[in-house]
Amino acid sequence: MHWESYSHQKIKEVVSNALKQNLDYREKPVLGLPASYLDPEVFYDDAPFLKDAPFLSTLIANPNHIGCHTLNESEAAFTGTHQIERELIDLCAKEIFEGGEEDFDGYVASGGTEANIQAIWILKRYYEIEFEANANEVAVLYSEDAHYSMPKACRLLGLKSYVTKVDEETRRVTQESLIECIKTTKESGVKHFIVIMSMSTTMFGSVDDIDEITGWLDDLAVDYKVHIDGAYGGFIYPFLTESKSYTFENPKINSFTLDGHKMLQSPYGTGIYLTRKGFMEYALTEEANYVKGKDYTLVGSRSGANAVAVWMIMRTYGSAGWKAKIEKLQKKTDRLCSNLDERGVEYFRNPDVNIVTIKSKYITPKLAEKYLLVPDAHGDNAKWFKIVVMDHVQQGLLDRFLLDLDAELQTRK
Ligand SMILES: *Cc1c(COP(=O)(O)O)cnc(C)c1O
Repeated sequence: MHWESYSHQKIKEVVSNALKQNLDYREKPVLGLPASYLDPEVFYDDAPFLKDAPFLSTLIANPNHIGCHTLNESEAAFTGTHQIERELIDLCAKEIFEGGEEDFDGYVASGGTEANIQAIWILKRYYEIEFEANANEVAVLYSEDAHYSMPKACRLLGLKSYVTKVDEETRRVTQESLIECIKTTKESGVKHFIVIMSMSTTMFGSVDDIDEITGWLDDLAVDYKVHIDGAYGGFIYPFLTESKSYTFENPKINSFTLDGHKMLQSPYGTGIYLTRKGFMEYALTEEANYVKGKDYTLVGSRSGANAVAVWMIMRTYGSAGWKAKIEKLQKKTDRLCSNLDERGVEYFRNPDVNIVTIKSKYITPKLAEKYLLVPDAHGDNAKWFKIVVMDHVQQGLLDRFLLDLDAELQTRK
């Protein structure tokens, strides 16, 4: 995994050159597009700070990234910033997920939800087109700890979903529940499976054991394709783990979701969908006649500034800088865990993720409220509360939490 870090100067140059290659509504005779720069009364383009602010300049120039730019020729008006998005997709697929010499497709989606829906939609179309399957013969398989965008996608796409159980303590998918799911699907005529693995769940930071689960599926002689939901873990887990199981070196993996607007602290609107070549085509909307290069995405028009934002963050840090930042968060999380160990407080934590999920019996409602700890279920049913050790979670804040926790545990005794 390696990509270079760029200076602010270099980033400004790349973005400003990209904007120059894009169509400028002020300079070109643009009569046919239902689009323009941002409203000039509100977003004036001669604000003095803009020359040093590549993201804001892009926002104001308002490039449209409609379509998929890794695939074919797209809207000539915005080729400059399309190129930045292509580089971003390439960095994610080849460097974060060890794509090697292979080429990949992908785009910047509105978020992890859209990227997951896109993935399931594409695999559904794959089975429909290549195997002449009907929707009843395709099922989506995921664990009870998977993100709620999975049931959302299944309802939207008219697909049956089968949900495996996890062990309450280890959060690992149980083999019995997987066998049970496969048995019921066979009885209801399912022939093909879209299998979702979480490369970190949102609530626990648990990572599905992909090798074990695909091994079970192979033993059951099931036909499946795997999509990885890395919306939470995508910018953390690959930087901490030694394992290659969650990379494109694993031939079982078809596609990934990533979310810039979680760990990477990019603006909302920066989900990323990545897939091996040959799959994006299944999402083609042939009828998208007014879009040059047609459309292969769920969303339609989308802001090019989002791709620029994610690219800028990745280029500012470089791979080494980003790894160092994530390792710092990991150490802070380690320290929190040993502090909890000293107190005999039980929690779940994956050592390669910065989430600590504490059993609710140690957390009073007052404490949860004061520190905005997120429960696994709202109301009175919470069994767990999580702490996410993000950038803003300073050691002093964790220390204050621990002091308050001590006081609560003391009064209980
Ligand atoms: C946040 C998250 C999503 C959904 O992402 P949005 O960007 O909110 O749409 C999907 N999966 C996981 C694991 C997540 O953590």
